[in-house]
Amino acid sequence: MSASGCIFCRIANKEMDADIVYEDEEVVAFRDINPQAPTHVLVIPRKHFAGIKAAEAKDEAVMGHCLMVAREIAVRDGLAERGYRIVINSGAEAGESVPHLHVHVLGGRPLSWPPG
Ligand code: 5GP
Ligand code: ZN
Repeated sequence: MSASGCIFCRIANKEMDADIVYEDEEVVAFRDINPQAPTHVLVIPRKHFAGIKAAEAKDEAVMGHCLMVAREIAVRDGLAERGYRIVINSGAEAGESVPHLHVHVLGGRPLSWPPG
């Protein structure tokens, strides 16, 4: 299922280029076009969700899979020992800018807390 005009659906469907680092039947992961850290990867479900707020109980498995893939990407990028951050922005005040659920994987530099 895809939403017409959604850039992340277009990336998942290979209608738009991205540096894809992992994909399977359920999810696609690709490097962020405007990286905020040496590793900045987005993990998205192939199914279009209008953000985490739109996820339903039946989506629990794919949501969990996104997190497991996010962890695997961090491991592959050599971040398991030094540390990394997994983030979902939801809504305007959190800076959500693309209305297709995406999990950020960030690492490769010290990450301050609390986030800005
Ligand atoms: P948000 O701000 O919604 O949490 O995150 C959206 C992210 O998508 C941003 O970090 C932004 O740089 C990234 N992004 C937006 N458009 C594209 C694109 O066309 N390709 C890729 N690879 N990343 C994108
Ligand atoms: Zn979409």
